[in-house]
Amino acid sequence: MVNFQAGNYYLMDKDGQVHTIDSAKIKDQNLQALIENEVYKKSVAKKAPHIELMKKLKLVGYEGLSEPGHIRLTPKGTLIFDLLADRALQIALELGANPIKTPILYDLDLKPVSEHAKLFGQRMYKLKSGKRTFALRYAACFGQFSFLSDSIISYRDLPLKIFELADSYRLEQRGELIGLARLRKFHMPDMHILCHDLEEAKVEFKKIYKKCFEEGEKFGWDYVSLYNVSKGFLDDPKGFDYIRSLVKMEGNQVLINVVESGMYYWVLNIEFNFVSQQKRIIESSTAQIDVGNAERFNISYVDEEGKERRPVIIHTAVIGSLERFMADLLERASSLEIPSLPTWICPVQVRLINVSNDSLDFTIKLAEKFNHNNIRADVDDRNESVAKRIASAEVEWIPYIIVIGKKEVNGGKLPVRIRSLRKTIDMSEEDLSKKVKDETQGWPYRPLYFNMLLSKRPKFV
Ligand SMILES: [Zn+2]
Repeated sequence: MVNFQAGNYYLMDKDGQVHTIDSAKIKDQNLQALIENEVYKKSVAKKAPHIELMKKLKLVGYEGLSEPGHIRLTPKGTLIFDLLADRALQIALELGANPIKTPILYDLDLKPVSEHAKLFGQRMYKLKSGKRTFALRYAACFGQFSFLSDSIISYRDLPLKIFELADSYRLEQRGELIGLARLRKFHMPDMHILCHDLEEAKVEFKKIYKKCFEEGEKFGWDYVSLYNVSKGFLDDPKGFDYIRSLVKMEGNQVLINVVESGMYYWVLNIEFNFVSQQKRIIESSTAQIDVGNAERFNISYVDEEGKERRPVIIHTAVIGSLERFMADLLERASSLEIPSLPTWICPVQVRLINVSNDSLDFTIKLAEKFNHNNIRADVDDRNESVAKRIASAEVEWIPYIIVIGKKEVNGGKLPVRIRSLRKTIDMSEEDLSKKVKDETQGWPYRPLYFNMLLSKRPKFV
């Protein structure tokens, strides 16, 4: 058994061997980057390509009338954001969660609020209203806990999952703000799971852990994990075995940060980190086991014998936050040979270009057909050369581009430029629809958020 010291970092191999940081051999460059960042507080990454891309693709802008760390989204950015929000809700519902909505202000004169705020740390926005001071929520915990405290919950209802997409506010230091990766206002798809006891929480936690990893893989990346664990949890042989079982399940070496028992409300807090090609660390998913807040917020359930009991609570955000996932998607895109987004989240999936006015009506009707079939298609009907309009679709990373001329109007197949293949292939309308449907199967859909005709679209910045 290792003699863990609070304040120290360790590495655990997938077979459960524990090493101190200096003695460990680290093969994985992403893990090495996490260690530099977390242990030595050095960021290896100089560049964050997503910042350039969010501007180039016209998705996100800074808001001059607000303060740094508060962004605005264009219609295209909003579409991507809403699709991610839909995905987060989809995951919550698949897991059996109950969605709710709660306020963003909480009274700091009330004991549970001030205690929780103290455990959270310094980076809280405070707002004065009359004689009272309020905390702007930094996650959905306050509102969901208060809601659960007022609810009547039986042992039969557990494990009970509550979900909310919470706009959250954290007063990060100015120098730490990075594009979409670190903001002062962001959106957390926050879920809390009430469990009978720690043993049940461990079982549920494993399911969430798996979900976080699976979701990352579906988006196209692997996480590197940081386990923050209380010394008490690790010193207990059952706790230690549990940590070993998680690492074994993950199948990778993980970084462990040991904290003093009782220092936080959780005993285990895992951060799943996306690592960009430039080795920038973006914490993108999280899960915690909380043993303190049920008591603090007076949350209870009635057990088999009619007695009130305190549940153990899991906090988790599988897509946490939506803005960070946008950053991850763009960072990942920038590392690809042909930079691109997954088809389901592309604001425009098919771009149609009419060669001349003669083919415009046909082109518009075809675009309408695609949209009717839940495929986002638009028409570049601007008075520009075909070559220029194709180039413009390339700049927007549109996966499928079709130029419509006389031949196509007269019933020929459609010459579809497939961006990922850098090739044009003749396809029927049905074949292309099927291809897009296959690629987007199982993911959320929303219609176009802007005019289908490019000639009728302002230049948003
Ligand atoms: Zn929480």
